[in-house]
This record gives sequence, C-alpha cells and structure tokens, in this order.
Amino acid sequence: MTHRIVVVGAGYAGAGTVSSLEAEVERTNADVELVWINEHDYHLVLHEVHRVIRNPDVASKVTVPCSELLPEWGEFTQDRVTGVDTESQTVELDAGDNVNYDSLLLGLGSATAFFGIDGLREHALTLKGLDDARQIHEEIKDLAADASHNDPAQVLVGGAGLSGIQAAGEIAAYRDDHNAPLEIHLVEGLDEVFPGNDPEVQGAIRKRLEAADINIECGEFISSVDEETVYLGGGEDTDPEEMSSDLLLWTGGITGQEELADADIDKDDRSNRVFAAQDFQTSDEQVFAIGDTALIDQGDDSVAPPTAQAAWQAAEVAGKNLLKAAQGQPLETWTHEDKGTLISIGDKAVAHDIDALPFGTFGGFGAKFLKKAVATRWIASITSVGRGLHAWDDM
Ligand SMILES: Cc1cc2nc3c(=O)[nH]c(=O)nc-3n(C[C@H](O)[C@H](O)[C@H](O)COP(=O)(O)OP(=O)(O)OC[C@H]3O[C@@H](n4cnc5c(N)ncnc54)[C@H](O)[C@@H]3O)c2cc1C
Repeated sequence: MTHRIVVVGAGYAGAGTVSSLEAEVERTNADVELVWINEHDYHLVLHEVHRVIRNPDVASKVTVPCSELLPEWGEFTQDRVTGVDTESQTVELDAGDNVNYDSLLLGLGSATAFFGIDGLREHALTLKGLDDARQIHEEIKDLAADASHNDPAQVLVGGAGLSGIQAAGEIAAYRDDHNAPLEIHLVEGLDEVFPGNDPEVQGAIRKRLEAADINIECGEFISSVDEETVYLGGGEDTDPEEMSSDLLLWTGGITGQEELADADIDKDDRSNRVFAAQDFQTSDEQVFAIGDTALIDQGDDSVAPPTAQAAWQAAEVAGKNLLKAAQGQPLETWTHEDKGTLISIGDKAVAHDIDALPFGTFGGFGAKFLKKAVATRWIASITSVGRGLHAWDDM
C-alpha cells in the first residue's frame, strides 16, 4: 500500500510543507500519496492580511489558490477539520468523509485568545483571516460615515504585537486616505509597544505610530468590555479607567485550535497547542505539527515563536521529514533561526536585526523595501516570481 500523507492547513506551515514535500518527492522519485485539506481553497499570506483593512482589493494579492500549489500527484479537499482520531488514524471533516492517514501534519494555525476577559469575545472583532480583515474594513467605513470631525468614531486596537501594530497602521492609513473621522487608540497591557523586544525597535515603532496619529495606551490590561466601553485595570479599591469604544479589534494573544482539543496528543493544558519535538513529531509517532498550532521544542527549554518566519523555516524541513517517516529513515531536526523583524505602520516600516545586515534598527526606504521583498519572496517561493511581483506594490 502506498504511504498516505495528510497535510491539514494551508498557511505557511501547510503550504510550505506541501511545497517542500513536492520538491523532495520529485528529487527522490518516491511513491507516496498526498491529501491536503484546508477550510478555504486558497493559501493566505496572513502576515500581510492587515493590508486588506485599508483596501479590500489587496485580497487577490495575498491569496494563492491551493490548486496552483498542489503537486500533480496530490489531492486537495476543501473542508473544515473537526477532529483527529489518532487510534483509527483519521482526520474528521465537517462535510466530507473522514480521511485516513499514515502520516499527518497539523498546520491549523492558531485562534485568538480572550483570556476570560469579561465581554471581550462578545464585543471585539478579531484578525485571523481574510473575512476578518474585510469585516474590519466595512465596519470602519460605516463608522466613518456616521461620525464627524467634531465627534470622531473611537477605534481601539487591543494588543500591540505584530498584528495589532500593523492593523492599527492600516486603519490610520485608511483614515488618511479617506479623511475619515476616526480616532485610533492602540492599547497594550504591558509597559511598551511590541512587548518583550529590544527597546530600540520598540522606540522606532512608537515613533512611527505617533507620527501616524495613533494614540498609544500602555501599562494597563483590558479588564472588561461592553458594547460602548473598554475598561482598563481597576481592582478592589480602584475604579477602572474607561475608554469609549465604537469598534474594538482584539489582537492580544493566540491559543490553539479547539478542533484539536480531544485529539489524543500531548498538548499544553491551557492553550491546546500541540507539543512537538525538534523533528516535529508529536507524542503520537504518526502525527507531526508545525506553525502556530505547535509548541516546537528548541532544545533549551524554549519553543519556536508563533511567526510566519518560523512556520516558513520549519516547513522546509517538515516536507523532508514526512517523506523520511514514510520511508522509515531517521528524521532531521530543526532549530529556529531569527532572521530579524520587519513590521509595517501603514506605508512606513521598521526593520530590526536583519540577518547579515549590520544596521540594527532602521526605517525608511530600506525597511520598506525589505518588508515588500519578504512577502514577494514567500509568494514567489511557493508559486512563481510573476505572482510574487504582482503583490509588490501593495505590500
Ligand atoms: C495581522 C497579522 C500580521 C502578522 N504579521 C506577521 C509578521 O509581520 N511577521 C511574522 O513572522 N508573522 C506575522 N504574523 C503571524 C503569522 O501570520 C503566523 O505566525 C503564521 O500565519 C502561522 O502560520 P501557520 O501556517 O501556522 O498558520 P496560518 O497561517 O494561520 O494557517 C492556518 C491554516 O489552517 C486553516 N485552518 C484553520 N483551522 C482549520 C480547520 N479547522 N479546518 C481546516 N482548515 C483550517 C486556515 O484556513 C489556514 O489556511 C501576523 C499575523 C497576523 C494575524
């Protein structure tokens, strides 16, 4: 029987793995089956999805049909994964029949974490896909139409990590392009934007956020939310600070996908993210996991970060390892290599510690060029240079 590899997810993890598996199968003339499953029929360049908030037309630049990425010998199924049964080695689907696997790669990404904050799930928008970005666009458009420059709509972005900073930057760019009466606030519970990172890059990002007229509120966590107000801090003896909110976009944390909650694989109790070794094998020998879905051991008590950069790197090895597993060969190990940070604030960008460049933190044309180049290179690496270049102007 031909060994059947099933890949679930078409993000950097899934699409990247399919691409590296294809290259490896072609190189070795191996005989394996591939079934690739994703809820949408496209790969989304999620790390640039915030561009769609400003301009929904960018959607065609940040999506690639899975049919273009699928090897000739593979099969694609568009369906929602609802569970994984490791005993019968099946992936359970929402609409279609269960799919059997010999080896399975989990690349389902992550969900938004709400940390049990009262009212947050009910009253906040999130940004995890194309439909979310389109919805944010529509809502800020409607808010702007109903507001005035004397009484601007209050737009709050909760969480000043990669997604929150870049989303706030695009909302500000929309405001400027349309002279829209929007007041934008970026709210971060920790003491500085882009928490946990080098003060130099934090300062460079803050400077550009302020220049984009985004109000920054750091140092108090959102404690509860209702329809019109976001409450910060507060306690037994102190009242929370109140911020009036017409729209709250919450980007403050990630957690595992609930579809994997019942799968018999070792996971982090709190987040449901799947533990994986440096060769991506989980506690079940047949199941591998990479990308945001996984907590990939780095051999030093740390795990790989939940970034596109890490998923992309891991996928290059994951395709090889799926084939090695099918052939009973020893697996390769992988260690994340931080190649630096690139972050957009509307049409501006900040670069930090870019691999092989001796500049530390910088902005300007160089940072913007690199930000564009990374998105273009990713799209080109899984499709064609032409498709990559097509996206250039909007990145
Ligand atoms: C706005 C934003 C900006 C970001 N900016 C950066 C950045 O600048 N740099 C960086 O390195 N990282 C950035 N990130 C993080 C980065 O996008 C993620 O770390 C990366 O997408 C993880 O890749 P992945 O393949 O694990 O998951 P994803 O890219 O999320 O892919 C998951 C795939 O699984 C599919 N899926 C999910 N659930 C199911 C299901 N039940 N059934 C079937 N299919 C399912 C999804 O449709 C998707 O195709 C950003 C994220 C956001 C949201």
